[in-house]
Amino acid sequence: MKSCITCGMPFEGDHANDIGLETADGPVCIHDVQDGAMKTPEDIFEGGVQFFLSVDPSGDRALAERLVRKNMNGLAYWQSHPFAGLQGPVATDEEFGVVMAKL
Ligand SMILES: [Zn+2]
Repeated sequence: MKSCITCGMPFEGDHANDIGLETADGPVCIHDVQDGAMKTPEDIFEGGVQFFLSVDPSGDRALAERLVRKNMNGLAYWQSHPFAGLQGPVATDEEFGVVMAKL
C-alpha cells in the first residue's frame, strides 16, 4: 500500500486519489504540496498540528505538536531529512493510539 512519505497518510479509500506529487523518495499527498512542490518541513509540521487539533477538540496544541513529532519521526523520509521542529517532546504510544483510534 502506498502512503504519503511526509505525513504517512495511506492512499486508500477516500484518499486513494490524493497523491499531489511523485518524488524520487515516493508519493506526497495533496495536503503537503503547494504549487507543484513539497511544502517546507515547517509547513508540513504545522499542517499536522492543525490536523490533530481538528481530531482532538480539546485544543491542546502542545499535545498536537507531540503527536506530530511522534508521527513524523516514525517516517523514513524525516529520518533522512531531519529538521529542527522534530526535536522536542514526543507523544507516548498510548497518547498516539488514543488519537489514531478516532480517525
Ligand atoms: Zn501527506
